[in-house]
Amino acid sequence: MAFTIKNSKLKMHHCDLAVIKCIDFRFRESDQEFIRSTFSTEDFDMFAWPGAAKQSLDSSIWKNDFIAKVKNVCIGLHGVRKLVLLWHWDCGGYGGSKAFASESAEESKYRSDLQTVKDSLVKHLPDLEIEMAYSKAIAEDELEYTLIR
Ligand SMILES: [Zn+2]
Repeated sequence: MAFTIKNSKLKMHHCDLAVIKCIDFRFRESDQEFIRSTFSTEDFDMFAWPGAAKQSLDSSIWKNDFIAKVKNVCIGLHGVRKLVLLWHWDCGGYGGSKAFASESAEESKYRSDLQTVKDSLVKHLPDLEIEMAYSKAIAEDELEYTLIR
């Protein structure tokens, strides 16, 4: 079985942005909407991994592999200039919200891990601007995205 789908971007070779986010399906559409509205583009290289780039805190093999992919593919092939680290609320990579004593504990853990990951990546990717963001549930069906600047 084969079918065809239109794709108007096949001749493009440049994008400004790369994003690493969690694989969690619940956040895919709203994450894309956040990127689109915040960075005014829908063209970005997307890495998806459980817990976004949290793994880089535990594994230098993972971290080095990620850095190599960003260098070779995102920067080398696509001319990416900015990397967005995007965490999300209730992340299974952290054991979910239930793993935290409070909302503020969860939020501050995400913020501190984002900063630690950024600090460790920036040394290896000095030409890249690295942005940090996370989403937080503010209602059963609503997320608030925060860009840390
Ligand atoms: Zn997650």
